[in-house]
Amino acid sequence: MFEKILIANRGEIALRVIRACREMGIKSVAVHSTADSDAMHVRMADESVCIGPPPSSESYLSVPAIVSACEITGADAIHPGYGFLSENASFVQVLEDHDIGFIGPTAEHIRVMGDKITAKDTMKRLGVPCVPGSDGGVATVEEAKRVSAEIGYPVIIKATAGGGGRGMKVARDAEALEVAFRTARAESKAAFGNDEVYIEKYLQRPRHIEIQVFGDGKGRAVHLGERDCSLQRRHQKVFEEAPGPAIDAETRARIGKVCADAVAAINYTGAGTIEFLYEDGEFYFIEMNTRLQVEHPVTEAIFGVDLVREQIRVASGLPMSFEQKDLVLNGHAIEVRINAEKLPNFSPCPGRVNVFHAPGGLGVRMDSALYAGYTIPPYYDSLIGKLIVHGRDRPEALARLKRALAELIVDGVDTTVPLFHALLEEPDILKGNYSIHWLERWLAETF
Ligand code: ADP
Repeated sequence: MFEKILIANRGEIALRVIRACREMGIKSVAVHSTADSDAMHVRMADESVCIGPPPSSESYLSVPAIVSACEITGADAIHPGYGFLSENASFVQVLEDHDIGFIGPTAEHIRVMGDKITAKDTMKRLGVPCVPGSDGGVATVEEAKRVSAEIGYPVIIKATAGGGGRGMKVARDAEALEVAFRTARAESKAAFGNDEVYIEKYLQRPRHIEIQVFGDGKGRAVHLGERDCSLQRRHQKVFEEAPGPAIDAETRARIGKVCADAVAAINYTGAGTIEFLYEDGEFYFIEMNTRLQVEHPVTEAIFGVDLVREQIRVASGLPMSFEQKDLVLNGHAIEVRINAEKLPNFSPCPGRVNVFHAPGGLGVRMDSALYAGYTIPPYYDSLIGKLIVHGRDRPEALARLKRALAELIVDGVDTTVPLFHALLEEPDILKGNYSIHWLERWLAETF
């Protein structure tokens, strides 16, 4: 087992990893930029190292600074959290070359899943259902037209190197396709330095359903059901729940097995998420995330497992502590992402937090790095906390969420809490009746 783990991240996810380390008797090392000297993760870790100035490109994304921090502190492994370097194959390659453990999959798995075309090809080969579309990249307008006519309009043009919803354009007919194709390529070139795009059938009213998988790196893998993350604004998730209101036990077992078998076949190590669009009872693979997700706590709540602890176990060479038959789903969990943002425009709202009071009680978990007197710096993303509730069923979880939100106090900055109060009054949300377009439409109409 590792003796000391360096956490190459900040905020609530750094605390999440420190907590798991502490329960396992492992020492933790925090890294931080000069803007984060007073941050909670620095206070909570056993040791800390300053790795650079505020911009992430010079601190949390600096591979030399992070590797040096590992060597100075004698940390034998790195947990990357999510974002930053968590899906950076060359970072993982550097760690492999320096004999520093990486708590995640291999560089090769990250590389294959990080390119959307190779990811889709691999999943197709492994028997995972995919969105109908082009075989690989599409280079010319003529080819784009031929492929689109074949799969049928509307289509969506997506960047091979894409992420965060950038470089995606929908075309309703052949005429619109030409403009969409050129725009997607130009956007992709500007955002990712790569103008390769591919084409998929555009699904009209799907849900975003993702399957949590976990592998031991030696050909064994399990699934931990699904999360419904359809409530998104600008392709950013804001409200996630497990189990999905539209998924029954038989469907879960079927798609779960497909996913677990797929990652077992490639000897995948640790936590991963296979994302699908789900429409009319069919699943369509869109991408795989080779890391812990922001919304992992809803899965932890209903299965009663600690995913970070499992990640650390398998990365150190130990077996998983559960098998598929041990994973029994219990109740319902919901997470809401609390951002320091001013409504209705969701503009970032960093600044000083005068008072912070986290909700508590049965079935309530608040993962946050806030404290009273803390100043949220303007350099990083605006997530300041995740409120996760667990109940015996969906109505109980919803009631608990409403109660817990009312207890939460964040004084000094604007937050997205009022959005959730409003959502909890909506009949569609109470019934679990929403697709990936619901939130944008509702925001435009009523908020
Ligand atoms: P990114 O990596 O940029 O997040 P994804 O492939 O995960 O890109 O897609 C992000 C979101 O875009 C999805 O959650 C969905 O809302 C929408 N989307 C992607 N592909 C399709 C499709 N074929 N049809 C309809 N919507 C899509």
